[in-house]
Amino acid sequence: QTANSDKGFFLMIEGSRIDMAAHSNDPGTHVHEVLAYYEAVKVVRKYVDDHPGTVMISVSDHETGGLSLARQINSTYPQYLWYPDVITRIKNSSYALAVQLADYWKADRLNFINETILRGSLGIDDFTNEEVTFLNENQTLQSYEYYLANLTSWRAQIGWATHGHSAVDVNLYARGKDTEKLRGNHENTYIGEFIKDYLGLDLDSITLKLNSDNASFHLSSPNITSFNADHLAHYHHLH
Ligand SMILES: [Zn+2]
Repeated sequence: QTANSDKGFFLMIEGSRIDMAAHSNDPGTHVHEVLAYYEAVKVVRKYVDDHPGTVMISVSDHETGGLSLARQINSTYPQYLWYPDVITRIKNSSYALAVQLADYWKADRLNFINETILRGSLGIDDFTNEEVTFLNENQTLQSYEYYLANLTSWRAQIGWATHGHSAVDVNLYARGKDTEKLRGNHENTYIGEFIKDYLGLDLDSITLKLNSDNASFHLSSPNITSFNADHLAHYHHLH
């Protein structure tokens, strides 16, 4: 639709599920979200290279989880290592496995936990009686999810600082026209300024236009205050 337009287009692509994987401290899902995002970036980068004058900016609004490639798993002086092979064996998200655990109460539940969940989906062979006992008991969905995620994080010796967002600096990548200006450390608002300048936007007049038919464009939907988000709690309560 934009091929014959002289106005161009703006496209936002969000790799949104890495945030939820990190809220769960789920290392397997986390890395697969990184890889999927990289595939998307490759497509956009090729488009930018094929269309001089276009710009790609890749950035995050925050880190989640306080992920670190380090974990002290006992009281002795730690070895300087982590085990990526543990992550490569994970086949499902902790959330998907938690849903299965919460639903499966047949007589062979113990076998299901040992073979399907632990060996088959998480690639864990050295599970303990204590771990199996916890998973065999009736827990909340979130308890299962966090527990499963920790089984692999612990064995990989990956550290997580929080189930929330962190304040660490995030990476900024850019390609295309004038993106040299984005090198270095910047406040997040600097990226907005760059886009405004690149597109030649007059933000004051756009704000007036957005508000011209509404009391405020933030409240453009009359039902917004009664919007029921209860069923989205899993995605939004920590978001
Ligand atoms: Zn979040």
